[in-house]
Amino acid sequence: MPHTHMGKVTLVGAGPGDPGLLTLNALGALRRADVVVFDRLVGPGALRRIPKRALQIPAESLGRHGDARQHGIHHALIEHARRGLRVVRLKGGDPFVFGRGQEEVEALEAQGIPWEVVPGVTSATAGPAAAGIPVSHRDASSVVTIATGHEARGRDEVPWEKIAALGGTVVVLMCSDRIAGIVRRLRKGGLAASTPAAVVSRASLPTQEVRRASLGRIAEVLARNPVAPPALLVVGEVAALGVPRRRVLPSGRARARRRSLE
Ligand code: SAH
Repeated sequence: MPHTHMGKVTLVGAGPGDPGLLTLNALGALRRADVVVFDRLVGPGALRRIPKRALQIPAESLGRHGDARQHGIHHALIEHARRGLRVVRLKGGDPFVFGRGQEEVEALEAQGIPWEVVPGVTSATAGPAAAGIPVSHRDASSVVTIATGHEARGRDEVPWEKIAALGGTVVVLMCSDRIAGIVRRLRKGGLAASTPAAVVSRASLPTQEVRRASLGRIAEVLARNPVAPPALLVVGEVAALGVPRRRVLPSGRARARRRSLE
């Protein structure tokens, strides 16, 4: 008998990596999935929650990179949904925060495939939080800007100088190999070299690492002591905060460190 009913694609945010940050809706969608197409960014804790009977497809297997891979992903989602299957598209963080989620939605809509989205805990806020850094602060930061350090097809549209002029907190995703250039432009836009900065690597995972320095020194600190991806950059007064730092550093060293930031 031919399939008469159409399947569905659920875009699911897997959070920053700690399985405790998966939502109940994400777990429900995973439990019901027949097929899961997942990104490399998705943590092992989420992957372990995919039922054994479900077909698991790593997104990297669907194309070499960039747009070719994206088309491969669209094709796989559409084909499996057409066969009447429940397809989960599992993405790191939130599917609609620098996750190409909308491109997938448009491809599905163009083919009349039903879809829904399960929002996730984005690394843009949970990443800093995992290092004890609040992205907003009643006294020190009333604006939070989330920017990408890696733009589509070499475009150069992030107005770093204007972002610097806004003040508040700047969170930069996909910044690993571009921090020096981003810092230069934020400085050009008026941010002082003494502005606190932090890089959080593998936030929320047991391998999480944090580097803190002033904006003027952060690129040098990372060049000397690199972090593993994925990582994000936080710039602003709030980047000097963070309970874990106080916990890990003996108070004398913490004081010295604070002085060296001033
Ligand atoms: N949709 C995702 C972001 C995708 S862009 C979200 O909402 O979180 C990928 C970037 O997210 C990475 O380059 C990195 O900057 C950031 N990122 C994702 N998970 C992270 C983690 N556990 N720790 C630090 N940065 C992370």
